[in-house]
Amino acid sequence: MQLESVIACPECGHAEELVMPTDACLFFHECSRCHAVLRPKAGDCCVFCSYGNVVCPPMQDSGDGCCGGTADSSFVADVTP
Ligand SMILES: [Zn+2]
Repeated sequence: MQLESVIACPECGHAEELVMPTDACLFFHECSRCHAVLRPKAGDCCVFCSYGNVVCPPMQDSGDGCCGGTADSSFVADVTP
């Protein structure tokens, strides 16, 4: 399983390598260059699945959705962009 994923910012094109947590999904990521807040595209569970070159560990593991559908609005509300 690969735990490093390179996320490419859709706003400025800046790419940065991040280590993915194996037990949680990263729903937001702030670009370190332009500070745009990346969010998963519709149908994706986390920013790695939308913008990374490697999908998140749960997706590598099961291949059919990840996080048990926990990336819902209550999770979003916990994060202040
Ligand atoms: Zn950026």
